[in-house]
Amino acid sequence: MQANVSKVLRWSAVDGPGNRLVLFLQGCNFACPGCHNPHTIGICDSCGDCVPACPRGALSLTGGKIAFDPGLCDQCDLCLRACPISASPMTESLSVADVLALLRANRPFLTGITVSGGEATVHAKFIAALFTAIGADPALAGLTRFIDSNGHLGPLGWQRLMPVTDGLMLDIKAFDPATHAALTGRDNAKSLASARIAQAAGKLYELRFLMVPGFTDSEAEIAALAAFARSLGRVRVKLNAYQHHGVQGAARDWPKMPRAGVEAAAARLRAAGVTEVVTPAVWL
Ligand code: SF4
Ligand code: SF4
Repeated sequence: MQANVSKVLRWSAVDGPGNRLVLFLQGCNFACPGCHNPHTIGICDSCGDCVPACPRGALSLTGGKIAFDPGLCDQCDLCLRACPISASPMTESLSVADVLALLRANRPFLTGITVSGGEATVHAKFIAALFTAIGADPALAGLTRFIDSNGHLGPLGWQRLMPVTDGLMLDIKAFDPATHAALTGRDNAKSLASARIAQAAGKLYELRFLMVPGFTDSEAEIAALAAFARSLGRVRVKLNAYQHHGVQGAARDWPKMPRAGVEAAAARLRAAGVTEVVTPAVWL
């Protein structure tokens, strides 16, 4: 089984507990105007529009398929700007066996693997096959298997994934349905249900909430976050602050989320009984 991978980070200390290999899978079921990696949303259909945009000749159409030569690429990102569907021609197709080999090569340095995106669960079958294979491999014993997700997956999908997953980091983009739709193009019901499913299975590692000024920094949104977190029982909540890095289009004009606003929200959550609240470690 194969998946389209936009990036592999061999070591990361910010994508779950410990030191983790992170697999960023291509494709997302949300269309967030404020996305920090918009080129991970679409799946390349080999239209060829990016080929003439590449100044290094790293892209070509071969047999009707886009071909990428990483040896010629200088990472100027001009192809990403040329793509009409927020895809990237610079992905690679990795098999479960390829990822197992990467994990074995880096095993002494790793706590686990995190599968992220795009939206990881768009590739639920691949993740289930990968996590099952990791669990069955004696050379990889002890590695934890995490998913970083927007939660837009139904109960049947989680039935497949939950037994082989050790932890879920779940983004809730907004509680007000209209705000969620404006920020993602989708309803939030599945994401909220996914949090409950993961918590019931003892696998909800962290609930993440991105504070975007004018959208999700209101008293009502923070009160709804507090009520939802409390309804789950004991849960770790991580507040993130909207920044402009990687963002394209009109969302570049949205204001950045100030540190004081995030710290005030964290204080409100703690006062409301949410005991474990994490704020960004680094402010840019
Ligand atoms: S990022 Fe690489 S492939 Fe894309 S346009 Fe630049 S040189 Fe070409
Ligand atoms: S990356 Fe985008 S522009 Fe390039 S071939 Fe694929 S769909 Fe077309």
